[in-house]
Formats: sequence, structure tokens, C-alpha cells
Amino acid sequence: MNTDIKQKFCDLLGEERVLFQEPMNRHTTFRIGGPAEVFLVPESVEQICGALKLCREEQLPYFILGNGSNLLVSDSGYRGVIIQMDRNMGKIELEGTEIRACAGALLSSIAAAARKASLTGFEFAGGIPGTLGGAVVMNAGAYGGEMKDVLKEVTVMTAEGDIRTLPAQQLELGYRTSIIRKAGYLVLEAVIALEEGDPQVIQAKMKELADKRTEKQPLEYPSAGSTFKRPEGHFAGKLIMDSGLRGYRVGGAQVSEKHCGFVINTGGATAKDVRELIDHVVRTVEEKFGVTLEPEVKFLGEF
Ligand SMILES: Cc1cc2nc3c(=O)[nH]c(=O)nc-3n(C[C@H](O)[C@H](O)[C@H](O)COP(=O)(O)OP(=O)(O)OC[C@H]3O[C@@H](n4cnc5c(N)ncnc54)[C@H](O)[C@@H]3O)c2cc1C
Repeated sequence: MNTDIKQKFCDLLGEERVLFQEPMNRHTTFRIGGPAEVFLVPESVEQICGALKLCREEQLPYFILGNGSNLLVSDSGYRGVIIQMDRNMGKIELEGTEIRACAGALLSSIAAAARKASLTGFEFAGGIPGTLGGAVVMNAGAYGGEMKDVLKEVTVMTAEGDIRTLPAQQLELGYRTSIIRKAGYLVLEAVIALEEGDPQVIQAKMKELADKRTEKQPLEYPSAGSTFKRPEGHFAGKLIMDSGLRGYRVGGAQVSEKHCGFVINTGGATAKDVRELIDHVVRTVEEKFGVTLEPEVKFLGEF
């Protein structure tokens, strides 16, 4: 990318909000990933709009990043523009029994705000380490709850830069999917509809779910959570375990011994290690059980 374009990003956002060759291992829960050519940390919708317009004009590829908790970035990084929507865009507001939050708000922060306001319905999401935007895109869910159950409306920016507020019913929210990626939308904010509840019951539920996660998941290692989607009629972790792959390694990447549905970074794993391990798991499970596992984790960059 030429210096003129780089300067234009700096003029739009201010120099302190534009990083070059930013290592993506700092921004993914896998702690893996080479440098992003340009890494933007916008603080307003206007800045996002301006950055997208510049990407369109200069025909630069761009990618919206939340908390990087469902993402494997290539070792060679990303040749394009990363737009981060994380704590920099994380405002949370209470409106009666509803919560309006910017896309970068962490689910844990929203869950804490709901608990403080004695609102129930969001306990399921408190332990998912992503942003609201990332959770809307893939209809994140856990322990019997999913975003679909609580989302009222979502404000998006279209690829052309228009801002639209859509009722949740129009987002085609299904198991770990929505129309957002297909439509090329960027999630700006969302309204979550909850109900009044008993603060002690809410607190107890959140603790119960957090304890379950600690007991079952390898939270002591970097990962991107469940590596595969749940295939219909099966559990990915059980299929992987029954294929004899518990603890199977490629370089620093390993099928977790604690929960076979997780690929973990045991230290120094490369994206290539993780990708090879995922491909091996998919092949092996297919051979043994005739079930094709589909990665839930998103891949960014060249593999
Ligand atoms: C330990 C651990 C446990 C996990 N447990 C669960 C779980 O129980 N349930 C579950 O569903 N997931 C779980 N996950 C996976 C992950 O946390 C979720 O998928 C989360 O919703 C991803 O959000 P993110 O902000 O990190 O998104 P990222 O990983 O940053 O991005 C994921 C995708 O969303 C897109 N995206 C992000 N923000 C926006 C936006 N504002 N607008 C448009 N597109 C956007 C990105 O472009 C990318 O395609 C877990 C992960 C870990 C590491």
C-alpha cells in the first residue's frame, strides 16, 4: 500500500488510531497470526464510515475484527485493512428492561450490566469471550441460550455506507449463522430485550455456568473455543475423541485432552499447525464415521 493511502487513514482517524504491520497474535484469543498491513481503531461511526469509503475508493480488502475469539489469522498476516470494533466502540446503555450496546461491547460486560440492573435472559452469554458484533454475526450461543432469543434489533452499516436498523427477525439467525456476513453488513449496535429478575438468582446462574466452563473447557490455553460446529445428531468433541484423536498434535497445536472439541495452542503454535491439525481431524472423523465436520472458527489471510 502506498504512503499516500496510509496518510489518508491517518488524516481520517488520527495517527494514534492507525497502526501498520500490527501483529495479529495480539488481537486473537489463539495468540496466533502475522501482521495486518493496516489496523484501524476507530472511535466513532463517522470514522468507520470514512474508513470504509476509503477502502472502497482504493479497492482495498477490509475485515471487521471483534475480540478475535473465533478467528485463526494466517502466519503471513493480512494484506488489507483491519477495522477493530472492540472496547473502542463498547458503550452500553440501559433503557428500561432493554440494553442498547455498541458492537464492540464485550458480552461479559453486557452480562454484568444486566446483572447489576436485575435483568435476566443474558446469563448464557456472560462466559463467551467475544463482542456483541461478533456474537450477532454468528448467533453465538451457550447452555441452551442464543443471541436470537434476546436480540430485538440490530443497526448495521451496509457495504455502501448506509445505516439501517433491522428487526432481529430479518437477520435469518440460525445455528451459528446469520445473513450479516453474506449481506456484507457491519454491525454497529444492537438492542437486547431482557426481563426483570431476581439479582441473586441471576448471580447464581452466572456462577453456575462459569464453573461449568472452567470444569469442562481448557481455558488455561489459548484457543478459539469450539473449533467445529455441532454436526446434526452428533457432538464434534465425542466424534473426535472416538476417532482416537484426543491429545493429537501438529507442532504447537493440539486437540485438547480436556475437551476434544477444542484445538489449543500449547505454546508457539503457528496458524499452519492449527490448520493442518483441523484438516487432519476433519479427514479422520470423515473416514471413521462418515460425518463431515465444519469449522466454526473463521480463517483470515492466506492458508
Ligand atoms: C474459550 C472460548 C469459549 C467460547 N465459547 C463460546 C460459546 O460458548 N458459544 C459461542 O457461540 N462461541 C464461543 N466462543 C467463540 C467466540 O467467542 C464467539 O464466536 C464470539 O461471538 C466471537 O466474537 P468476537 O467479537 O471475538 O468475533 P471475531 O472473532 O473478532 O470475529 C468473528 C467474525 O465476526 C465478524 N465480526 C466481528 N465483529 C463484527 C461487527 N461488528 N460487524 C460485522 N462483523 C463482525 C468478523 O468479521 C468475523 O467474521 C468461544 C471462544 C473461546 C476462545
